[in-house]
Amino acid sequence: MLGTGLIKGMAQTAKNFVGSYQGPERLVTVQYPEERLAPKENARNFPFLVFDGDDAQKGLRCVACQICEKECPPKCIYINKSKDKKPDYIGKPQFYPATFDIDISVCMSCQICVEVCPFDAIKMDKVFELSTTDRFEALLLHKTELAKPNEYFQELHPTEAAEIDTRFAEEKLKAEAKAKADAEAKAKAAAIAAAPKPEPAPVDGSIPTPVAPKTI
Ligand code: SF4
Ligand code: SF4
Repeated sequence: MLGTGLIKGMAQTAKNFVGSYQGPERLVTVQYPEERLAPKENARNFPFLVFDGDDAQKGLRCVACQICEKECPPKCIYINKSKDKKPDYIGKPQFYPATFDIDISVCMSCQICVEVCPFDAIKMDKVFELSTTDRFEALLLHKTELAKPNEYFQELHPTEAAEIDTRFAEEKLKAEAKAKADAEAKAKAAAIAAAPKPEPAPVDGSIPTPVAPKTI
């Protein structure tokens, strides 16, 4: 019948209107800014850089590979790679960003930088109260402002952070086991090289005198 959808829609609206007076859980708006709703886990706004440990610069996960800079559609990421290297979370020497800026006045919150980062170094924040009258400098975030601890990421996106923490811990254990095995193999090879060589067999066919092992 013509108008059935309209009647159904109006009935639903009326139900929600009346229901919002009956149960507070039916109220979908709050008196902002006095009241605030906790953002959903997958809410996102602008990117930030994750660091591990206490030192924002030493613990920064970013290795300045510049993939995010290349893939960012509006080109609002600016990175300068370091000349030297620093150890990453498994002790592997890596470059780091000497400069890492994001112009959040241009960023469109698409999250592509997060999707393409192979190091889980850049994640989406949820902060939204960033309005300012300074269109330029205040909205150009530098490395020091972008760097946030892993604990902050764990609070924002607990499910994803837990999965990454587990993976990193496994990779670290594997790297430590490999380093240990390499060190043992090296020590074994050195011991073999240092062991006394057997005397060459005499030309006349007599049995060579055995060499006494060295005492330590
Ligand atoms: S969220 Fe999108 S627009 Fe913003 S910095 Fe990342 S890739 Fe660029
Ligand atoms: S944030 Fe990720 S993709 Fe971007 S430069 Fe750093 S490591 Fe590379």
